[in-house]
Amino acid sequence: MEEDWSPCPRCGSNKVQKVYKWAIVFALFCTAGCMFWIGLLFPPLLLGIPVAIILGFIMMFGKNLWQCQDCKKTWVAKSKPFTVGDLIKYLAIALVIMVLAYSCGSN
Ligand SMILES: [Zn+2]
Repeated sequence: MEEDWSPCPRCGSNKVQKVYKWAIVFALFCTAGCMFWIGLLFPPLLLGIPVAIILGFIMMFGKNLWQCQDCKKTWVAKSKPFTVGDLIKYLAIALVIMVLAYSCGSN
């Protein structure tokens, strides 16, 4: 699954590391879940929920990110063809993440 690897576009270094977008997506959905419950006490926070969800979806459908270990540049990986299978997989993962975010917020 490393076929979209490429050297650093700024300094040409081979020391590049994949940035796991799923961790970012999960954090954004969890943030949205927590904001809902904090928002019950502090309503302005409710405005942040759609922002966090939209950012989560943008990240989810976005490409993988890479970061250079030498110059710390972050860039987007080369694109791969998008298939219906990918769409179904993403929707299933989105559903699981939303259920998890909701249940962790409700405790
Ligand atoms: Zn670099």
